Amino acid sequence: MIKEKLESIILKRYNKKISECSNQEIYYAILELVKNETKEKPVIKNKKKVYYVSAEFLIGKLLSNNLINLGIYEDIKNILNENGKSLCEIEEVEPEPSLGNGGLGRLAACFLDSIASIGLSGDGIGLNYHFGLFKQKFENNLQKEYKNDWIEEESWLHRTNTTFDINFGNRKVKSRMYDIDVIGYNEGINKLHLFDIESIDESIVKDGINFDKEDIEKNLTLFLYPDDSDEAGHLLRIFQQYFMVSSGAQYILQQEKKKHHKLNKLYKNVTIQINDTHPTLIIPELIYLLIQEGIRLKEAIEIVSKTCAYTNHTILAEALEKWPVKYLYKVVPHLMPIIEALNMIVCEKYNDPKVAIIDEQERVHMAHIDIHFGYSVNGVAKLHTDILKNSELNHFYKIYPEKFNNKTNGITFRRWLLHCNNELSNYITSLIGDEYKKDAKKLEELAKFIEDKEVINKIGEIKSLKKKQLKDYIKATQNIEIDENSIFDIQIKRLHEYKRQQMNALYIVYKYLEIKKGNIPTRPITFIFGAKAAPAYVIAKDIIHFILCMQEIVEKDEEVSKHMKIVFIENYNVSKAEKLIPACDISEQISLASKEASGTGNMKFMLNGAITLGTLDGANVEISELVGEENIYLFGEKSEQVIEHYEKMDYISKNYYNESPIIKEIVDFIVNEKVLAVGQRENLERLYNELLNKDWFMTLLDIEDYIKVKDKALQDYEDREKWLKSALINISKAGFFSSDRTIAEYNEDIWKLK
Ligand SMILES: *Cc1c(COP(=O)(O)O)cnc(C)c1O
Repeated sequence: MIKEKLESIILKRYNKKISECSNQEIYYAILELVKNETKEKPVIKNKKKVYYVSAEFLIGKLLSNNLINLGIYEDIKNILNENGKSLCEIEEVEPEPSLGNGGLGRLAACFLDSIASIGLSGDGIGLNYHFGLFKQKFENNLQKEYKNDWIEEESWLHRTNTTFDINFGNRKVKSRMYDIDVIGYNEGINKLHLFDIESIDESIVKDGINFDKEDIEKNLTLFLYPDDSDEAGHLLRIFQQYFMVSSGAQYILQQEKKKHHKLNKLYKNVTIQINDTHPTLIIPELIYLLIQEGIRLKEAIEIVSKTCAYTNHTILAEALEKWPVKYLYKVVPHLMPIIEALNMIVCEKYNDPKVAIIDEQERVHMAHIDIHFGYSVNGVAKLHTDILKNSELNHFYKIYPEKFNNKTNGITFRRWLLHCNNELSNYITSLIGDEYKKDAKKLEELAKFIEDKEVINKIGEIKSLKKKQLKDYIKATQNIEIDENSIFDIQIKRLHEYKRQQMNALYIVYKYLEIKKGNIPTRPITFIFGAKAAPAYVIAKDIIHFILCMQEIVEKDEEVSKHMKIVFIENYNVSKAEKLIPACDISEQISLASKEASGTGNMKFMLNGAITLGTLDGANVEISELVGEENIYLFGEKSEQVIEHYEKMDYISKNYYNESPIIKEIVDFIVNEKVLAVGQRENLERLYNELLNKDWFMTLLDIEDYIKVKDKALQDYEDREKWLKSALINISKAGFFSSDRTIAEYNEDIWKLK
């Protein structure tokens, strides 16, 4: 059936047979096929509906995922094979939308998949950024940014007739809704609604990612989080946020009216999950719209407060949004009386400046709006929620203990196992059947094979196969030769000082110097990085620069390159993650304890049989509880001690440097002649001085323990049977981290949709 359908589409479009088509042509034909199949699927309906509002949806490529969820992946793969074509090569043709920065946006995408896959009615609301996040290239060992032009004539986007007027004070623009179908796994469909501005002008983008930030009518949806290092950048961001939530709020109310639902009972039919503080303005906007509908302020506040729920993603102070009142007056003057009224209510009731919405410096704390005027506040891992309750948001927790709850993040197994590691997934199915695809906890049945040598060997063979595939990919895309028999040590995630790529880089220096001294590792090691740095984040870019310099130094040094290699993957994104994760031996999760809210990369690696090398931070804590301390490599200071260092302000990196000859040697290497010969003095000295005089995320506190434990992991790798058993235990315990479980909990405790 599917075969006939595909052949007929191809015949109609190109007047050819499948075997005569280019990969590009086949891609468009399958796109059309999937869209037709999707039309046959029912829209999921429950009594109540959730709207997941997020400034980011890092959805990745959709072709394979949609085929899997429609249940026609194997069919299409086989049909293509019969015609001398490969689905893998066709996937390469699809452009990847980059509508997110990292974990937070990827979480939103996994959540949409799970909401539909467990049959809940829920849509995403976001923005249709034309160039998304920038595309990263390396030039002279430096990161350069270019636009990612992902929208093609034919794509997953469906232009709707739904439009809204959006008012920014006296400026008015029109928004239009574009939809992407979200197909549940063997289920019905939901939608991702992405709003766009009619008057966008792509031609204003000049050399790289530069454009006139003032001209809102032309630039509003060009980029995700453009450089926000100046006032024009901040204002543009608020314009974007309001454009998104006003479009979303108007759409939600329009749908409610169509269903003849009473707006004063909004919370009975709708719940709105606010993903981090970026969509916070939806609270005053909904109050504003309900007042327009004739509801009084007091009642409108009550209705909205019962409708909105907030997810906190970070405790990093710089990431908690605080917008100056004067900016908000420029963008949303009509909401300011409402925000001021909300502030008055809070001040009168609690008389505590720590929980006020507007502070003494005339800044609006977005999270405070969410906590006071939402009905749920959740953190994203046990440790993170505990830190919110006990320190960061303790003042709020004391007022509203009943609002606080934990929802440990998860990942969709459709993408992060079935798709990216079809070989492993098929093997698991041959062992325990395929119920785990819907009920991930069933993976625990793998534990009974722990003493089965054949199973253990096969797990090793699949890992080797995925390593070979990655080797070929790196050769084809970056022309770098790696050894598939080496240990693949991988750190892929946004570049941030708290994630401590710099610590991994210092380990590399240590290993390089060891090899120079004649201490040769038992087996060669391949250190793989993938990371984008925010365009205005200077030190993050310096860290990339330093790692690229080390890559060049090692590559050119024949004595060392036999034993270690460094590969910095260019333009890290979802499709690269899908190729890297199944090939990984050691998963680097080395953030400073207390700083990583959850992490989800850690879960993807575990599911694919990598062993975690990490701190007791975020969801690493839960991974460690599940697999046991024998099956994870833990190191570093615990979160309580780290928090205490911050409170007492007693961490002085220079003391660690002065007291340890090893630390001194490796830190000094950053500005060694060898590095200066291939790098920029200014960047390298800045990084060196940062580590020596500031080191806000305490690299030097943990570096020695990190070196010790990492060396132990590399040594243990040689006991192949023990290592692979550990890998199997990691896979078998990963079921807890299915986003189906996370979403079931959101529904149980917060949304209550059916
Ligand atoms: C999963 C994922 C992330 C999040 O990784 P962390 O290690 O949890 O920070 C970021 N980017 C992409 C492309 C991902 O797939």
